[in-house]
Amino acid sequence: MSDFHYDLFVIGAGSGGVRAARLAAQLGKRVAIAEEYRIGGTCVIRGCVPKKLLVYGSRYGAEIEDACAFGWSYGDLEFQWPTLIHNVQREVDRLNGVYTRTLENAGVERFLTRATVDGPHGVRLADRDATVSADYILVATGSAPTFPSVPGAEYFISSNECFQFETLPESIVILGAGYIGMEFASIFAGLGVTVTVVHRGDQILRGFDMDLRDIVAEALRDRGVDLRMDTNITSIEKDGEGYRVVLTDGDVLHASSVMAATGRKPNTKGLGLEAVGVELGSNGRVVVDAYSKTAADNIYAVGDVTDRANLTPVAIREGTAFVETVFEGQPKAMDYSLIPTAVFTEPEIGTVGLSEEDARKDHQVDIYKTSFRPMRATISGRGEKVFMKLAVDAVTDKVLGLHMVGPDAAEIVQMAAIALRLGATKADFDATMALHPSMAEEFVTLRQKWEPPTPVKGSDAAA
Ligand code: NDP
Repeated sequence: MSDFHYDLFVIGAGSGGVRAARLAAQLGKRVAIAEEYRIGGTCVIRGCVPKKLLVYGSRYGAEIEDACAFGWSYGDLEFQWPTLIHNVQREVDRLNGVYTRTLENAGVERFLTRATVDGPHGVRLADRDATVSADYILVATGSAPTFPSVPGAEYFISSNECFQFETLPESIVILGAGYIGMEFASIFAGLGVTVTVVHRGDQILRGFDMDLRDIVAEALRDRGVDLRMDTNITSIEKDGEGYRVVLTDGDVLHASSVMAATGRKPNTKGLGLEAVGVELGSNGRVVVDAYSKTAADNIYAVGDVTDRANLTPVAIREGTAFVETVFEGQPKAMDYSLIPTAVFTEPEIGTVGLSEEDARKDHQVDIYKTSFRPMRATISGRGEKVFMKLAVDAVTDKVLGLHMVGPDAAEIVQMAAIALRLGATKADFDATMALHPSMAEEFVTLRQKWEPPTPVKGSDAAA
């Protein structure tokens, strides 16, 4: 045992920090954790969990309408936002309690205050103006939304505030077309809000496979979302109860709320990290090695604060790998390949591996893809479509990327990610028996290679 107060002090009780604290404490280490907001962090309190519950809430309207064709009838459809947000907040409170008890049961000491680094082994606790000491310090402070600096930027809300709305806005302008912008555009559209998305690029969801981007953009437009591409917000002014939003292309929008979903910044400001030799990147991220170690020997960092792959399961893995490396004597380097991910739009995206565009950079690629109406739509009459795609290495036959848009895409792709992890080839997919009738079976019955349309001689395309 060292002379320090603790073997480990974790700053930030989100997904990565809580996991590391609990595992270290279960190994018999003296562990403390500090959290300045609520135990659970972004994912549980104002991110993945409440967002997914809102996604469910936003889908019921269409599902209930579809139920008529299956013989169900009901009275007038009415949506009550206060009921949904109250129930979502109740679940967030429950999970906050679960996380707190998890730490308590593992014997982790909790400080509900801001903590900063004060010397190589010191942690200063704001509420008691005292410094405690620890052998190791783990920085797991996450990230926070950033807003572009335009006149009127103070009127921007972030996704955080959406979980606090007492009433649903009639209309909303969303700046940014990444994960958060698209998911909230979809949620609000499903709840009957008039949604306009403003994006500086020429298509939503940069970085995803082009087919997925095109299909989801078209589906969102079909659901009434006004997607404004190649433009940006130049200013926001108060306009009665709402806001007047001026765009670079000269258009002027009026909306009850204006949300920025323009990315997040690591929470390192004022943490005292530079003073103890921790290197920070240009956006404030903590620079770490493959073992999550910073430039200071006994200080580590995991999760969004390191700006590697900013996803909950990744932060949890990094927290686990940190404990194995530091307290179990089994150095574990992180592997960031083949991380499956979903965008919970309606329809939702599930994807793992390389997009077609990225696959073509280093491989000779065969593409297999299909688009079809899900069985339930044959009766409901809804114009929904499912899209599936495989990018296959033409030389080795290995499946490099697997992509889907449609119901339960996230669930299906999570399972398919195991196959890709094991190095599955297209022949393995073909040899797998179909499960019928399902949507997922289409992934094992794709026979026809997709060929890009041949340019017609003399046409514009060939020019
Ligand atoms: P993203 O980086 O995904 O998207 C940011 C969007 O804002 C992009 O469209 C970007 O455009 C645009 N943008 C950035 N800066 C500006 C600017 N100055 N002016 C105008 N537009 C701008 O960030 P999000 O905030 O959507 O999400 C943050 C992170 O949270 C994600 O990267 C992801 O890691 C995580 N997340 C994951 C979810 C999931 O797994 N389902 C759900 C929600 C969040 P451009 O494309 O041109 O850069």
